[in-house]
Parts: sequence; structure tokens; C-alpha cells
Amino acid sequence: MSKSIAGPEIERLIQLLARVPGLGPRSARRAALHLIKKKEQLFAPLSAAMAEALDRVRVCSTCGNVDTSDPCTICTDPRREDGTIIVVEDVADLWALERAAAMNARYHVLGGTLSPLDGVGPDDLNIKGLVERVAAGGVSELILAVNATVEGQTTAHYITDQVSDLGIKVTRLAHGVPVGGELDYLDEGTLSAALKSRTTF
Ligand SMILES: [Zn+2]
Repeated sequence: MSKSIAGPEIERLIQLLARVPGLGPRSARRAALHLIKKKEQLFAPLSAAMAEALDRVRVCSTCGNVDTSDPCTICTDPRREDGTIIVVEDVADLWALERAAAMNARYHVLGGTLSPLDGVGPDDLNIKGLVERVAAGGVSELILAVNATVEGQTTAHYITDQVSDLGIKVTRLAHGVPVGGELDYLDEGTLSAALKSRTTF
């Protein structure tokens, strides 16, 4: 074990920061030091914002999105079209598509993809809730905005099968999404084009 360079509270802060995506041990040390130096301007408000978000964050019981209200901001937005639901694997994909701002639709977050090898089956994902939303009526199109991976496509086929009797259009993202590509890493222009030129599944 390496020698400690600071008290246990600071060491713990660095260890936890190092587990944040995008930060490693080195960046975590820099971030911790920066916070300590900017105690009033940054550390205190960040700490308060984290405590407040932690206290209020919840999963939307309608779509599976995370927000501080249930139903979430998107589900309760009266300006969005009810007829189109964009199905995504993860909240990160929802945020990526919203950044692209190509559609004014509702969403459904699956919480992953079908992966028999990893023991992830239909009941482990938010698929039943999706079928119920479609069956309740008012939906004319499902856009399957899943990643272009084997698991993503397997999941897309399964969902298409589940809603096949419900008389709705099922589409998927078109060109621009590379095979094996993850939506969160695509630029807004590519995502927007892929949404607009979607094809029937
Ligand atoms: Zn929602």
C-alpha cells in the first residue's frame, strides 16, 4: 500500500472520486485538491447539490427515466407527442437523443439489453411496462433506438415480437449508427440524422 499524503477524510474523498466515470486516481487527486482550494465557491455548493439530488432522485414509474419527480419531466411535458415512444437501453442514451433534439417524443428506458450469456432475460428489463404502455392505446410508433450491438438487436427483435399484435409501427435508427456503436458516443448530427431516416423494423 502506498503512503497516505492526507488525512483519512481526504483520502476517502479521492478514492470515491476516482470511481466516477472519466476520472482516474490522478484526476481524482486533482479534483479533490481543487475542491479543497475552492471550498466556499465550489466544494460547499457541490456538496449541497449532491445531498439534495441524492435525496430527491427517483426512477419514473412510467418510462424508467431518472429524475427528481415521478412521473418524470419528460412524461409530464404537455408539449411532447404521445403517439411516439423512443425506446432506449439506458438513461445516457435518452440524454444523448435529447441533446440531438431531433424528436419531440416520449421515451421508454429498458435498463439494459437481453443477454442470455450474462443471465439477463426479459423480466430483468423494463419490457413489460413498455408493452403495457402500448397496449393502453394512443401510441402509433415505437422507435427502437438501441445500440447496434448483438444484444441491442436481439432486444429489438424481442420487443418487435411482443408488440406485433398491437397494430403499431416499429422503426429503428437508420444509417450513421456504426455496428457495435453506442449512442452516447455519437455526435448530435449523426444521432439526429439516424432518427430522421429511421426504417421500419
Ligand atoms: Zn417518465
